[in-house]
Amino acid sequence: MRYCARCGSEYQDSVVNCTDCPNHPPLVSSDEMRDRGLPLPHELDDHRFVKAGIAEDPVTAQVFEDVLNEQHIPLIVRPGRSGVVDELTTGNLLPWWEILVPDTFQTRAAALLEEVKIQGLATADEAGRAAEEEEREGELDRAQADAAPPAF
Ligand SMILES: [Zn+2]
Repeated sequence: MRYCARCGSEYQDSVVNCTDCPNHPPLVSSDEMRDRGLPLPHELDDHRFVKAGIAEDPVTAQVFEDVLNEQHIPLIVRPGRSGVVDELTTGNLLPWWEILVPDTFQTRAAALLEEVKIQGLATADEAGRAAEEEEREGELDRAQADAAPPAF
């Protein structure tokens, strides 16, 4: 069996790349997964890897992935699926991703992801404030123009 080091999916030996992940990363052996501290699919069931957060779009999933990589926290980005994954179907992919980390890292990883979310919101707030400020300056310019004497 071959494995995706990003989403943790298991593939037949004949498959070379993960079909679920962006850029279709090359699959690795179970030894490589172990070396990287990543779980094999059946090991996800014994709760050694637990959910640290949920990303609702691919961009957020990527940001979460980068943040945890920076902290050297092993992670799996598991695509949301409806239905059971069996040999005939991989199930329908859903538009959210579970970020799974080793249970020993869960508290830290969840806090990091929460921080990223808050920072994201703060940035959006700032952008909103900057836009309002510009608007006020624009009004001021117009008021000054009205007050100015005719230029001729
Ligand atoms: Zn994958």
